[in-house]
Amino acid sequence: MAQSFASTIRAGIAAVPLTEFDIIERFFATPGSHRDDVCLGIGDDAAILAVPDGHDLITAVDMLVRGQHFPDDMAAADIGYRAMAVNLSDMAAMGAEPAWATLALSLPEPDESWLAGFAAGLLGLAAEHGVALVGGDTVKGPLAACVQISGFVPSGTALRRAGARPGDRLFVTGAPGEAAAGLALWQRGLRVPQGPAARLLRRFDRPQPRVAQGLDLRGLASACIDVSDGLAADLGRLARASGVGAIIDLDALPVSEELAEMADPMQARRYVLGGGDDYELCFAVPAHALPEFERRARNWPCAVSEIGEICEPLGLYARERGDTEPLDEGGFDHFR
Ligand code: ADP
Ligand code: MG
Repeated sequence: MAQSFASTIRAGIAAVPLTEFDIIERFFATPGSHRDDVCLGIGDDAAILAVPDGHDLITAVDMLVRGQHFPDDMAAADIGYRAMAVNLSDMAAMGAEPAWATLALSLPEPDESWLAGFAAGLLGLAAEHGVALVGGDTVKGPLAACVQISGFVPSGTALRRAGARPGDRLFVTGAPGEAAAGLALWQRGLRVPQGPAARLLRRFDRPQPRVAQGLDLRGLASACIDVSDGLAADLGRLARASGVGAIIDLDALPVSEELAEMADPMQARRYVLGGGDDYELCFAVPAHALPEFERRARNWPCAVSEIGEICEPLGLYARERGDTEPLDEGGFDHFR
């Protein structure tokens, strides 16, 4: 444990309204999601968790720092939600069933209403996915929230970035680019509760981790990645990890009504290819698995678009009206 609120008090600050213990008790050690596989949760030096027989443990961690990963004035509940969502998205990308999370929180001061909002955002989304918060650390410092998440898959069935083969079809869930467009609106000072712009703002604040879709893709997708840094950049990573190339059909890229309304067609395309923070899944499906994939995807509540195919030559390519040109993964940096 680094410098904690409790040790700050011991160091001589007389009246701090909440101690570290109070914060944990009041905001984080709530009953939350009950899971039989949590043998020991918050309160001891570490948690004891039972990984089911015949399964692999899948684990990931993601840290959000104020000013770096979210705007200074983002609402506490949205920060809490986002800290959990980005981690759930990593579970989704691996086809893992999320189970347990820990939270390391650095706070400038123990602000009760901020903590209540943050905990509601984080624990609310955790509960939706049956994830139990089983431990953490709470320290005084610049605002940062670091969630570590674990889940499991039947042994050997996790999805990976590696595995795509030439001829596999490429798909993406949802509407990538919307979160970056929403962030751009926020950075221009736009704060609206309703309408298309509000829906874009919400896409940045409240990404929908595609956990159920990741589970459905187990045994079907040959490779999968979640789109956090932009579709082109992340698809480039999937292709490199698989030792293959990827072709994107530009005309097949999904452009939502909201995005089309705020950006001209070229700009919209740049958002779709280069915008980050979407937390959609991009994945490859081999021809033999397409019928079963289509059957499962029909029940998904989110859109899914076929955007291209895996090819033999290494690299990332854009295809339009029969022409195929190399596509620069980093060519959209100004959107990040
Ligand atoms: P230690 O000093 O042994 O690391 P702490 O005093 O930091 O323990 O934490 C006490 C208990 O509270 C531990 O079980 C820890 O996992 C849990 N905890 C601390 N901070 C948080 C938090 N922000 N969210 C969830 N659990 C937390
Ligand atoms: Mg300890």
